Amino acid sequence: MKEILYVVIPCYNEEPVLEETTKRLKEKLEKLIEKEKISEKSKVMYVNDGSKDNTWNIIKNINEREKLFTGISLSRNRGHQNALVAGLLEAKKYADIVISMDADLQDDINAIDEMIEKYNNGCEIVYGVRSARKKDSLFKKFTAEGFYKFMEMMGVEIVYNHADYRLTSKKVLDCFQNYREVNLFLRGIFPLIGFKTDIVYYERDKRFAGESKYPLKKMLNFAFDGITSFSVKPISFILGIGMFFSVISFLFLLYIVLKKIFINDAVSGWTSTVALICFFGSFQILCIGLIGEYISKIYLEVKDRPRYFISENLEENQNSKIDEKK
Ligand code: UDP
Ligand code: MG
Repeated sequence: MKEILYVVIPCYNEEPVLEETTKRLKEKLEKLIEKEKISEKSKVMYVNDGSKDNTWNIIKNINEREKLFTGISLSRNRGHQNALVAGLLEAKKYADIVISMDADLQDDINAIDEMIEKYNNGCEIVYGVRSARKKDSLFKKFTAEGFYKFMEMMGVEIVYNHADYRLTSKKVLDCFQNYREVNLFLRGIFPLIGFKTDIVYYERDKRFAGESKYPLKKMLNFAFDGITSFSVKPISFILGIGMFFSVISFLFLLYIVLKKIFINDAVSGWTSTVALICFFGSFQILCIGLIGEYISKIYLEVKDRPRYFISENLEENQNSKIDEKK
């Protein structure tokens, strides 16, 4: 039996790219269906993440004229990761395998063939990995690769140079549903799920239209979220440093007391005192801030608020129409 594939694509203000993306993906899906690699019930599911431009109307329009395309719309902008979760969990209801990718098709869609092949060979998760970043700016390449290295150093298990271009089976998504966290960092969650996995390499392209929705500030926040949601190493690090400085301070104390007793010289060294106060003062604030970050995460998780609401669902409309016809 041929598997039903759903391609999930979060879209935030993607007006300039949607038509071209649709054209390219339509060709791809049609070819795969023709070659009998996937079922003819396969679809592309756009997730409108509260776009402020015409994105949702374009998606509805595409859905009306193309039977391979469907969409859901979130009640407001919830960010890339939440939009992706909404799409994955919705697509899971209809699909056997789901592939997630970005609307700008920076990820090479020709890797889909290989992903499906690996799935047919028994893999439940197939990660798309960027082989080189020839087309990324030097800055993006440097910050992105530095980010993966730093994550590794912090003990977070992620696939090097893999973003959110991946194939997952329905079985994996059923497991994924149990991860209820609101501080989302999907590329850290999937390696935790396990099962047989593999990697497909591809060359990442430039965005063919529109602007990046991930400016530096958002990227840094995302990286920070990734570290503090998956690693407690920074806190252990603080503890280690605290112990180290306690030992040093104790030795120093011993030294000055003995010096006072045996040598009894006048107090000197105002500079070093002030320097130490400044150093320890600022270091303590830094540590408290870092611990505060973890506490704020606990606060957000404890509230267990819903991650998104779906305001419109073209897939459900379509299915209910089919039911009516029956
Ligand atoms: N995106 C989203 N919600 C947001 C920001 C981005 O759904 O709040 C989507 C966006 O439409 C795109 C994907 O996330 O499909 C990745 O964004 P982008 O290509 O701008 O990021 P970059 O490739 O520059 O890192
Ligand atoms: Mg992009």
